[in-house]
Amino acid sequence: MKEFLETYELYKEFLLLENYTLNNEEYTYISEFMGENFDYFCPIENSIRPFELDFSDRIKKTITSIEFGLSEYESNRIPDEQFIDEKLNYTFSMFGRCKSCNEYKIHFMFNVYSNNPISNFRDNYRNVRLDERHYHDLPNTNIYIKKIGC
Ligand SMILES: [Zn+2]
Repeated sequence: MKEFLETYELYKEFLLLENYTLNNEEYTYISEFMGENFDYFCPIENSIRPFELDFSDRIKKTITSIEFGLSEYESNRIPDEQFIDEKLNYTFSMFGRCKSCNEYKIHFMFNVYSNNPISNFRDNYRNVRLDERHYHDLPNTNIYIKKIGC
């Protein structure tokens, strides 16, 4: 992830997670990207500085209130709007904040997607019976990310 943030050009694909399966579900919540550390050029300080991925307060508030407001049933499912043709595919923006001056921000727009259909179930720790759409457990299913805007 660090290398991706520091050096990848727009639209260059980075493998986030290999062998996505039930009980190895990651990167289906945007909040999972918060706090990623990387080094980047800060024009204010004119040097490479440590950066951290973060959201605006408004988005953070929304993330928290959504997670708080959901029933257990809903929070165990990846929302439909994060899928295209049953493959994971969602886009969001966040920024990297320079941790040194705390002022400079680099903006990113990310696209996160899977190469195969995945189950919309998360955290299936109790092995609840899956509905028919969600038996997808295809081998070699990976999660990728790319920058689609800066
Ligand atoms: Zn700075």
